[in-house]
Amino acid sequence: MAVACAWLAVPGWAMADACAESPGLSLLAARALQFPVDGIQPRAVRDTFDEGRPGHRHEALDIMAPRGTPVRAVDDGKLVKLFDSKPGGLTVYQFDPASQLAYYYAHLDRYAEGLREGAQLRRGDLIGYVGTTGNAAPDAPHLHFAVFLLGPEKQWWKGEALNPYCAWRAAR
Ligand SMILES: [Zn+2]
Repeated sequence: MAVACAWLAVPGWAMADACAESPGLSLLAARALQFPVDGIQPRAVRDTFDEGRPGHRHEALDIMAPRGTPVRAVDDGKLVKLFDSKPGGLTVYQFDPASQLAYYYAHLDRYAEGLREGAQLRRGDLIGYVGTTGNAAPDAPHLHFAVFLLGPEKQWWKGEALNPYCAWRAAR
């Protein structure tokens, strides 16, 4: 199935080889992330990290699920930004507890009630619902989920893309 879903094109993102050993991927694997979409098994998700999207590499996973399916925080850590962008629609940026990794959730149908920037999320907390906001095809609701390794400046929009698929694969 073709999924129209574009990743936020952020200049300076490193092109990490999918599942290659790297300090970032080791860090990610050690977090043993919760899966973010209710009712979906990680093994049922196709690895779309290296796929092309118009003008860039995807560098994220598209997790297909019915509209309105709960989306949950994959880890403990601070919610640093709620952002409504043209490609991503309603998005959430979350840091891990050590502010080394950032988790990005996009195309949400809506946010969980009371969600706010600066909140300390716990793994499994409801953050929103699967949808098609932004440039997702209206008939293909999904969560676009990405992880990146933050630089020393800890800027929520900038880092080295890591393949979340590898983390879940390593945890099995
Ligand atoms: Zn996507």
